[in-house]
Amino acid sequence: MTPVDPPKSPDELHRKYLEERDKRLAGNREKLDLIGDLQKYLDDPYTPAVPRQAITEHSEVIIVGAGLGGLMIGAGLRKAGVKRIRLIDSAGDVGGVWYWNRYPGVRCDTESLVYLPLLEEVGVMPHDRYSTGPFIWEHARSIARKFNLYDDALLQTAVTGMEWLEADSHWRLRTDRGDELTAHFVIMANGSLQKPRLPAIPGVTDFKGHTFHTSRWDTAYTGGTAESDPTNLADKVIGVIGTGATAVQCVPPLGRSAKDVYVFQRTPPTIGVRNHGPVDPAWAASLKPGWQNERRANFTEALYGGAQVDLVNDGWTELFRALVSDPKYATMTPSEAAEARERADIEMMERIRQRITDTVKDPETAEALKPWYAYLCKRPTFHDEYLDAFNLPNVHLVDTQGAGVEKITASGAVVNGKEYKLDCLIFATGFEGLEIAYTEKIGFDVVGRNGLRLSEKWADGFHTLHGIMTAGFPNMFFQSMPNGQNTITINFPDAMQQNASQMAWIIAEVIRRGAKSFEVTREAEQDWERTILELAPDNRAFLESCTPGRGNNDGVVDKRPPANRDYGPGPPAFFRVLAAWREDGSLPGLHLEYPEGREQGRTPAETAAGLSSSLH
Ligand code: NDP
Repeated sequence: MTPVDPPKSPDELHRKYLEERDKRLAGNREKLDLIGDLQKYLDDPYTPAVPRQAITEHSEVIIVGAGLGGLMIGAGLRKAGVKRIRLIDSAGDVGGVWYWNRYPGVRCDTESLVYLPLLEEVGVMPHDRYSTGPFIWEHARSIARKFNLYDDALLQTAVTGMEWLEADSHWRLRTDRGDELTAHFVIMANGSLQKPRLPAIPGVTDFKGHTFHTSRWDTAYTGGTAESDPTNLADKVIGVIGTGATAVQCVPPLGRSAKDVYVFQRTPPTIGVRNHGPVDPAWAASLKPGWQNERRANFTEALYGGAQVDLVNDGWTELFRALVSDPKYATMTPSEAAEARERADIEMMERIRQRITDTVKDPETAEALKPWYAYLCKRPTFHDEYLDAFNLPNVHLVDTQGAGVEKITASGAVVNGKEYKLDCLIFATGFEGLEIAYTEKIGFDVVGRNGLRLSEKWADGFHTLHGIMTAGFPNMFFQSMPNGQNTITINFPDAMQQNASQMAWIIAEVIRRGAKSFEVTREAEQDWERTILELAPDNRAFLESCTPGRGNNDGVVDKRPPANRDYGPGPPAFFRVLAAWREDGSLPGLHLEYPEGREQGRTPAETAAGLSSSLH
């Protein structure tokens, strides 16, 4: 491919964007079901399976999922005085994505000071501005230790089914370890990036070399660690399929250590400037108590609400200020604002493309690495080594021109009829997300009141109050589900923390009032759905103009049920909705049931005896 003159005018650019989109829409974007031989891509390579006896026990709260979202709820419940909390997770330890993702170079690209939850309470100060995966995983373990969440945890255990027992006002859960567990409250914190996604490339099962998904990194094969380069690859030819946020981080260490690396690209990502560095210990020591909540709220406000002061001041806040939250947009008419945003987008994307021209020495490779779409069509990435890796003589970009890898053979991968022989094929192809139904994603169904199945209830999309509770499923909560009538932030843990606080507050309140169960009313759910639909921004034209990806359901914009949206006015406004709901004090939209023969409220003696005591 010879570099061509870049498009210059907005119209030319727009045409180029649509051309590139159409190439990708024409390709195969199907995924594989990880069953049969393909189940090996789900195996846990990190923790050997430990046999144990099945148990039959009751807990006050069961949290399904021990990632950061589940841990934050556990911490919130402990602070509210709840005693018997059981975390369940199929992984060998707590930490969720930070347990699973151990590829070399893994870091969180959101600033550690706002990303890592409960820093002040746990007494930890990150030393890196963008923490490594192992540092975050260790922090997750520290949260579990600090709040005694390991106590009843069942790890290496997958929930297989769940049903509401009306007579007892309890949930009963079954697991793949034969456990039969009951709980007064259940929280679904199953995560949104937990199931590896493998593309349905013909021949995937034919490959005879070594292969794994990035979230099941085979350190025994590669050598090295998540924080150091691989050590066993000097004579190995590695293929990496995918160029998302994960590949951007693992390609440079692979490039430094393998004999050859072929990076199979379908759509180039945006690679913003990272400016990584240490956290200044003297500055950290000068922070006043309460600093983390303030900084985290400021980050979210800077991204979505236009904060006056930008404390984090990094690539994310610069990007969102330019395209989303600059206060100047509020002073313009909608069409002026749209035009101004488009100009800002073009300017920023030109900078992204110019950086590639300036960094990558081979002009053809540089050209192929250039992204041609509006900035927020795809999840942005930030890195200061990825582009430079393509200057190494052993790192080769295989640009599939949007078509993806054509087929996989016993010995390699084929693109444009050419076979690339590989010793090892690594899938950096992401996770199943929005395209599958909730119960399919979590791997089991939930049977609520009167035999109602969650798969049926949500067959045509989510029906919830605030995205965290659903009618027919008493005493149950859901932690942040993408497009789940809640909110999503670049800093995931911020939304998870707000939801966790809301759930812990409701549980404590239900217990304090002496109720045996709470349930959302259908009316409250319908009201919330109306609010979601009324306030949903009309971004259809934008999504349709975008290159296919997770944001637009791989280009099939209509595939998503209309009410599968987040709260339109954005995260800070959503957090205010939750706070106002709590302040109301009457639990609007919830119906509480009390044990027979007693009225609302607990006796002072019961309250004094602690939150757990009167329930069981
Ligand atoms: P992504 O889903 O973002 O990327 C998958 C990649 O695989 C894309 O480049 C995709 O191409 C490519 N792909 C899929 N099928 C094919 C095919 N047949 N041939 C060639 N390429 C193919 O997955 P990631 O694991 O990179 O990231 C998942 C999420 O994890 C991110 O969105 C982010 O939220 C999170 N993450 C966060 C990090 C952080 O620092 N906070 C770091 C890493 C990940 P195409 O673009 O064309 O679809």
